[in-house]
Amino acid sequence: MAPIPKTPEELILMREAGRITALALDAMRQAVRPGISTAALDKFAAEVIHQHGATPAFLNYPPGSPHPFPATATISINDELVHGIPRADRILQEGDIVSLDCGAVYQGYVGDSAITVPVGAISPEAQRLLEVTERALWIGIDKARAGHLTSDIARAVQALVEGEGYSVVREYTGHGVGRSMHEEPQVPNWWPSGRPRMRGWNSVRLVPGITFAIEPMVNVGRPETRLLDDHWTVVTRDGSLCAHFEHTIAVTPEGPPLILTAL
Ligand code: MG
Ligand code: MG
Repeated sequence: MAPIPKTPEELILMREAGRITALALDAMRQAVRPGISTAALDKFAAEVIHQHGATPAFLNYPPGSPHPFPATATISINDELVHGIPRADRILQEGDIVSLDCGAVYQGYVGDSAITVPVGAISPEAQRLLEVTERALWIGIDKARAGHLTSDIARAVQALVEGEGYSVVREYTGHGVGRSMHEEPQVPNWWPSGRPRMRGWNSVRLVPGITFAIEPMVNVGRPETRLLDDHWTVVTRDGSLCAHFEHTIAVTPEGPPLILTAL
């Protein structure tokens, strides 16, 4: 099913949801330091979201699940890729990298964004991973233009990441964002080699007004991941370091997209 473009009025609300999401992420980013718990970071995000008249998008997600997500942000350390559960006994250490992923709902519309940040001084390899993953996000964003395909985003992200000697996670993708956190289209970060540039196989042509999250997930080692027994935390199967950057964007009539989750 093709994604339905948002109206200008909806885009104003999406931008506000995105701005609040960005403020919450920024509050966590500023609090990151050795010795702080992931639960304490989560609290900063919750406070900011509530202060702005919004609600956390991840809390109790998905509805009806026997294991709904119990916090505001997902916070994932080192070989944890995404969906880490904040805990009072999970303490950041000097040299860690930590992925902060957060969403806010404002007047019925969702923002979704993630960053990976250093904890104190980190290794050159970890620093390079953060830089490559963030560059992958921006190259994907640059492809999110009217007339392009979601596979154009996927190919650009994959080419950059693999060109740097890293791998792209297959099991998780970007996604449409709007009144719910996961809508059409799926926005993968890889594309099977040999497939022609064509519609089909999840590739969707981008039209102005559609809104979605682009979110490269990059592993230093192999691309496979594994789900922990807590039903949420996703780790790299080989234990290698990984990183994740995400913005929610709106496709514009011409030129690059609007970054809805910018500060
Ligand atoms: Mg996210
Ligand atoms: Mg997302």
